[in-house]
Amino acid sequence: MHSEDGTVKFSYRLADGASIEGVLIPAAGRLTACISSQVGCSLDCSFCATGQLKRVRNLTDFEMARQVLVMNDWAQQHLGRRITNVVLMGMGEPLLNYANAARAVRALHVRSSYQFGWKRITLSTSGIAKGIRRMADDALPARLALSLHSAVPEKRAAIMSIGQSNSIEMLSGALRYYVKKTRRKVTLEYVLLDGVNDSEADARALVRFASHFASKVNLIEYNPVPGIPYQPSPPQTVARFLRLLQEKGFRVMLRHSRGKDIMAACGQLAHYAAQKHS
Ligand code: SF4
Repeated sequence: MHSEDGTVKFSYRLADGASIEGVLIPAAGRLTACISSQVGCSLDCSFCATGQLKRVRNLTDFEMARQVLVMNDWAQQHLGRRITNVVLMGMGEPLLNYANAARAVRALHVRSSYQFGWKRITLSTSGIAKGIRRMADDALPARLALSLHSAVPEKRAAIMSIGQSNSIEMLSGALRYYVKKTRRKVTLEYVLLDGVNDSEADARALVRFASHFASKVNLIEYNPVPGIPYQPSPPQTVARFLRLLQEKGFRVMLRHSRGKDIMAACGQLAHYAAQKHS
């Protein structure tokens, strides 16, 4: 399925009949494959379409790597380009399928015909503190992104139920440990939800959280999902939030959604799978 902006959504039928989705995102100088790590998801982040599906099972390392290889073959044939970056940011929580995710990214790194550099492979977590520490202890050189979305403990726990068992303090401790041990920056992903996590106080909480370790921040435009009552923050609110972070010296990127028209944008990967599971 193709988006007007060039994003392509892939739906995969697995050997046992389960369905997952992945997204190919073209941009100047890079072609990113966003892949799934689980069939469904055991978590239930309130803004995410995948969170409305039950976790069916973990994907194997082969099933994860295979998503990239299929997209790469397609990209070479139809776009004349190869995939340059891989993000485990599709359906599922990769740090709850750590062993297979680690094997998959190591395979993508060493396979002679692909050899994705470690800087071009990112695991994105909703905030599994133990998994973050494990990644550091294993010296897994892939990049780490945390879907933070609020640094105010009770707000985060309300938006993302994982915040109830993995508190802001636990995450902060795990990230400090990770950055100290790996000497790598963490990317903090922050989707701006109108009236929920986009106030000046929210920005100040994010500044306090992020000031304890090396990081960069991606502010993300929210993609409305049918049946989920959030809306994107208005442009002036986004601009104020961005400015507050920049004034504190943070490296901040504003990410616009890709693939909204085909339900392939961040947090929207459940449409096809939901039909298959229903
Ligand atoms: S955001 Fe990620 S971890 Fe949260 S429900 Fe969606 S797929 Fe699962």
